[in-house]
Amino acid sequence: MDQPASPLEDIRARIAHAARLAGREPEQVELVAVSKTHPPERIAPLIAQGQRVFGENRVQEAQAKWPALREAHPDVKLHLVGQLQSNKAEDAAALFDCIHSLDRPSLAAALGKAMEKAGRRVPCFVQVNIGAEEQKGGCALAEVPALLALAREAGIPVIGLMCVPPAAAEPAPFFALLAKIAADNGLAGLSMGMSDDFETAVMLGATHVRVGSALFGARGANRA
Ligand SMILES: *Cc1c(COP(=O)(O)O)cnc(C)c1O
Repeated sequence: MDQPASPLEDIRARIAHAARLAGREPEQVELVAVSKTHPPERIAPLIAQGQRVFGENRVQEAQAKWPALREAHPDVKLHLVGQLQSNKAEDAAALFDCIHSLDRPSLAAALGKAMEKAGRRVPCFVQVNIGAEEQKGGCALAEVPALLALAREAGIPVIGLMCVPPAAAEPAPFFALLAKIAADNGLAGLSMGMSDDFETAVMLGATHVRVGSALFGARGANRA
């Protein structure tokens, strides 16, 4: 039996396997390594192993951690995977290479202005509240077309849809639904799948999987 040399190799192999099962190429899936809560000492080894795309969920934490890491590795890309407050839009537009959490008209307006000011058009995913859960981030299903139109008017390059399915539910139907809404709206990108369900997401068309604990270990267990 082949033992994977590292969690990163293991995840990459599992993504490739799921992609091939679905008749897709492994290169069609971007692994976003979600490094939130983990210190630079835990991130550097992944960069050394060749990982180049990372995800954070808080603007302030990313501002504290990433400038030094990126100075050493200018080809690293940083994605925002967590909810974004409109008053942090300028910081986010300056720092991130991709934003997965555009979910409301007020944020589209703020991000449009922020991108103009920063002089960079940051690709965004529109986050959909795919399980229609109270208290969960994401745009309601019925409001996706209107939000897409607003985002385009604001000059935001929207590259796809993103979702986090309800925690206790079987994720596949939600991934399939997100893929259908994306196709209906002419969007190619699908940010879906986390540590527990990324293979399912890849089989259902994910172009970006956001994997944290399967790569870094449980959050809050940093000193291992
Ligand atoms: C934390 C987080 C992830 C990664 O979760 P894991 O279960 O640790 O893989 C993915 N997406 C979002 C939006 C997150 O906040």
